[in-house]
Amino acid sequence: MAITATYLGMPLDISGLDTENLEYFRHCAGHDFHLQRCAGCGLVRYPPTTACPWCANPEARWVPVEGRGTVHSYSEVHHAIQPAFKNHTPYLILLVDLDTQNGEPTPDEALRVIGNLATPDGQLAPPDMVKRVGIGTRVRMVFSDVTPGLSLPQWTIDETATQPEKPWRYPQE
Ligand SMILES: [Zn+2]
Repeated sequence: MAITATYLGMPLDISGLDTENLEYFRHCAGHDFHLQRCAGCGLVRYPPTTACPWCANPEARWVPVEGRGTVHSYSEVHHAIQPAFKNHTPYLILLVDLDTQNGEPTPDEALRVIGNLATPDGQLAPPDMVKRVGIGTRVRMVFSDVTPGLSLPQWTIDETATQPEKPWRYPQE
């Protein structure tokens, strides 16, 4: 069944034909992060797709994956393209290397999961939190509840992790 919702005033729509994303977000709605593990080569993949990007095997099963990782890169948005985000600037878009399967199948690869920087309760992070995060920051997954049946995976600072002394950030004021 398709999912339709409104997030920050924007329409979100996942088609009833998009079985992989429907299953992915069904887990997210329970604040439970799952990805597909290939039945052929055993590798986990992200984002959800119909076949394995490494061996093309279409068979997979959903497995729980720990939502912890390190910021691989980020974009700090000061001028929102989407009017819906205008009241939330500056905000961060994070690309996070999961700890799971990091460096596999080649040393340069990782499961890189995208999300916004958020507070532990899933709200977009305030400016003083945005300033503290950069490449190397340790983060953990949290969820933004949009509507019953739809939650978005996001990232927050992992309070229990050892953090880099100074995460790399673009030079600024
Ligand atoms: Zn495979």
